[in-house]
Amino acid sequence: MELYQHTVQEIGEMLARREVTAREVLASSAERIGRVENKIQAFITLTLEEAEKTARDLEARDEIGGLAGIPCGIKDNLCTRGVRTTCASEMLENFVPPYDATAVKRLKSAGAVVVGKLNMDEFAMGSSTENSGFFPTHNPWDLTRVPGGSSGGAAAAVAAGEVYYALASDTGGSIRQPASFCGVVGMKPTYGLVSRFGLVAFASSLDQVGPITRTVTDCALVMNAICGHDSMDSTSLKVPVPDYTKDIQEGIKGLRIGFPREYFQKGVDRGVKDTIMEALFKFEELGAVVEETSLPHSEYALPTYYIIAPSEASSNLARFDGVRYGYRDRYAQDTAEMFSSTRARGFGPEVIRRVMLGTYALSSGYYEAYYLKALKVRRLIKEDFDRAFEQYDILISPTTTSTAFRIGEKAEDLLTMYMLDMLTIPVSLAGIPSISIPGGFLNNLPVGLQLMGPPLSERTLLKAAYAFEQATGYHLRTPVLEVYGT
Ligand code: GLN
Repeated sequence: MELYQHTVQEIGEMLARREVTAREVLASSAERIGRVENKIQAFITLTLEEAEKTARDLEARDEIGGLAGIPCGIKDNLCTRGVRTTCASEMLENFVPPYDATAVKRLKSAGAVVVGKLNMDEFAMGSSTENSGFFPTHNPWDLTRVPGGSSGGAAAAVAAGEVYYALASDTGGSIRQPASFCGVVGMKPTYGLVSRFGLVAFASSLDQVGPITRTVTDCALVMNAICGHDSMDSTSLKVPVPDYTKDIQEGIKGLRIGFPREYFQKGVDRGVKDTIMEALFKFEELGAVVEETSLPHSEYALPTYYIIAPSEASSNLARFDGVRYGYRDRYAQDTAEMFSSTRARGFGPEVIRRVMLGTYALSSGYYEAYYLKALKVRRLIKEDFDRAFEQYDILISPTTTSTAFRIGEKAEDLLTMYMLDMLTIPVSLAGIPSISIPGGFLNNLPVGLQLMGPPLSERTLLKAAYAFEQATGYHLRTPVLEVYGT
């Protein structure tokens, strides 16, 4: 077994026992990147030289253990001091932030070795990473398929062994859906649990930062480092942060699990449904009580999201005007033309579509009919969850409606692309936590299983996810990338 194949937990222990050095660990990841990155294309920017320096400094200061000395990647919408942060957009192609996002800063102070910035859909708008303004990323399980999105680079890099873990963001499913497509673990924490400071805003009332890892324990370890109050984010929660690894092995005897019938209905592939139904039997075997339940307003989640998210995006993205940030069309004849042509050229088609949608929904005369109505429906969706959690500790569903599709297959069919997030969006609208873990395989492609819980139930979710992971061992299956052993 090569070093890069170990989990965060294992490599952390090996580092702490001084069996390996931070530079040896980094060398293994760097070599892996060198061998597979041309096939996967997960990184927009590699920072291996800085990483080498960090590893050397950590060794010199003898700061090893926990996350210290372990290579990771950061989604390219999280600001990294001195390292360009593009949001996979030509608009920010040369933007170098003068500060770190809080979550990045916390990882760095835990000794993380950042090896690069990961590809994504432009400004996190998309479900396949095909909307990246630079290039698409490939799914390590089948290079002709998408890795999901918008955090496709993050999920693919973790699955391919290029990094031990990644930090990403989720607005409507962008951590969970790519984790599902790439057979890894992805958690969207409770809204406000991880600071959004330094995360380039898409839809501020939905955006959350979270980890993508290969195992549930690794997810808990990264959560330990990134969660907690931050005075730089006004929506940051002032709550104590527990040790998420504590009692993770406790088991789930007596845990009450509901499966919402609306998440197993039309639009969800038969094979995916069957795989998750089978997984539910596993949870019963492990001692949980599993029952069908209902979230009656689920069908309105998608249209509600596609009013609220673009509305917030149209406002958040107004700052990219050629004056304050990034790209500027230098050939425009006057100021008005400079604003409009900068935005027309700097943004890709999906971003432009969202800005137009949002501007329309917020415009006077339509505000009440669309935006205000969407806010009301959002409340109903949240209340569905509140009611369900009176009876159940957690809810379980498939993460996505299908397994990974082929690159290009849905590019022209926007509605199908939007519908992919049908099962992850309600959680985002409700602000509750959820995790996607490998739930089985269909035709050699991973199927994601989603666990959802009430606000701040991360520990329960991780415990349940851990019990299932250990009982099935799905996390031990890894994609074969090097058939000829090169
Ligand atoms: N796929 C969804 C969208 O395109 C969600 C993206 C996200 O979570 N950032 O908006």
